[in-house]
Amino acid sequence: MMESKFRVAYSRCPSYTDRKRLRAALEEVISIQLEDFGGSVSGKKLMFKPNFLAWRRDGDIACVHPAFLLESVKIFLDAGARVSIIETPAVQTAPAVVRAMKLDGELAKLGVPVASFAEFAPIRPVPGQCFHHVEIAREYLDYDAVVDVAKAKTHGMMMLTLCVKNLFGMIKGSERLGWHLAVGKNFERFADLLLDIYLAVRPRFNLLDGIICMEGNGPGSGTPAERGFIAGSSDALALDASVAPLLGCENLLILENARKRGILPDVEIVGGIPEIRRLRLPPPPGFLCEWGAPLPPFFKKFLREAVVAKPILNPKLCIGCGLCEKMCPPASLKIKNAKPVFDLPNCIRCFCCQEHCPKGAITTRKTMMMKACEKVEEAVRFLFR
Ligand code: SF4
Ligand code: SF4
Repeated sequence: MMESKFRVAYSRCPSYTDRKRLRAALEEVISIQLEDFGGSVSGKKLMFKPNFLAWRRDGDIACVHPAFLLESVKIFLDAGARVSIIETPAVQTAPAVVRAMKLDGELAKLGVPVASFAEFAPIRPVPGQCFHHVEIAREYLDYDAVVDVAKAKTHGMMMLTLCVKNLFGMIKGSERLGWHLAVGKNFERFADLLLDIYLAVRPRFNLLDGIICMEGNGPGSGTPAERGFIAGSSDALALDASVAPLLGCENLLILENARKRGILPDVEIVGGIPEIRRLRLPPPPGFLCEWGAPLPPFFKKFLREAVVAKPILNPKLCIGCGLCEKMCPPASLKIKNAKPVFDLPNCIRCFCCQEHCPKGAITTRKTMMMKACEKVEEAVRFLFR
């Protein structure tokens, strides 16, 4: 049963350079989360999941700022926790990003290992789940709690990326484009996918770097927007619900869908909310991919077919019960001649049909292109390790 109310705290911090001030601001928002956690993280194993989209130049605003990450890590270490940082950036590996940020030496001295996600497993079933065949990184299961460290950025498809969207990075790199293409033309479904990941992972600590945000053409190519705030909550959705309207997005789809699904928590603000200027949001989503690259529709259609796993029927096992048709959210599966027929262009790859088939007659199949992409991903990450 989900709790229905979570506390959200804000603190002011004008820059990353004054470390003392940064630490004090972080402590302010972490302290309420420690209380919510039971008062102590001493001896606990914590997995930090920072937003490391890519580190292409000094001060790259596509990532959580290195000083923000380092000071957060130190606060938890000082509280007696054991910390690891795990993330899969868009192209590089997590250790490569940390090296480029010049954090590797200090993290090594602190005894904080850094790794990319390496093990993937089907998402843990949770009540109210929409998608039943999503593979996400499984490393978090080995930890007492996840610390979601997100950057406040605009996002071409979802308008904003905050703490819930940051968890999309737990999907295998080579499959992210596939998910964007599978549900990307239906942004509501994509929001549901993000909510499913959030429900499964439920980070107990959530920190949002809003000191220098990104506005405009986010999440990779926007412009810096100084907003000078940090936000924190023991619930990612509560934090997003509180922050999104302040940044200018009153109707963030993730929040609308969470409301419809009855999982949007109430928010209690601890202290006050600083004045935060709205961000310049990207144009409403159109035919944009995650990193903002326009793709012609025919190519996108080709990609959808090539890099998205499909539901496949084994007609010998099918008894024609029709349950799959009833369970298909967008009605893209119809029973014809007592067997399901898939309307793949409209299939959102939720795999509810596969999940509910009593005879195991529906399976999922990766395409050759997906398998090839996995190999390419391994090779690229090896080169950028
Ligand atoms: S649920 Fe399974 S057995 Fe029933 S019609 Fe669909 S594929 Fe066939
Ligand atoms: S056919 Fe329907 S239920 Fe099956 S994966 Fe596609 S959208 Fe989901």
